[in-house]
Amino acid sequence: MKSYREELWFNVPTRRALINITPHVDKALKKSGIQEGLCLVNAMHITASVFINDDESGLHHDYELWLEKLAPHEPVAQYRHNVGEDNADAHMKRQIMGREVVVAVTGGKLDFGTWEQIFYGEFDGRRKKRVLVKIIGE
Ligand code: ZN
Repeated sequence: MKSYREELWFNVPTRRALINITPHVDKALKKSGIQEGLCLVNAMHITASVFINDDESGLHHDYELWLEKLAPHEPVAQYRHNVGEDNADAHMKRQIMGREVVVAVTGGKLDFGTWEQIFYGEFDGRRKKRVLVKIIGE
């Protein structure tokens, strides 16, 4: 069995953003040379997510509003976590949107369903953060 590991680094200039990282994961898969196996992609921070959905700007706008309704950033003082920091909402947004995804690798390609793309969800940006890509197989 072969295994491949790579870290993808992001420094998002805004507090929140959704980034399609499918091309990065594709590139890692090509480098791995693995044809059949599994590809894990996970955020390595507790205020960011990795998830799979549609690359559609209306949906991304809807996510932003939905997440702000569930866990509004302001007022910062409403959260007990926010003593000396202001990112309690980011921890909650990450929890809802998930930590990781696993994609099957078939014939050297990410074996997606229709419209599926992999996203990095940043909820407390403006600093360097990373995503782990781990691919195992033959
Ligand atoms: Zn925190």
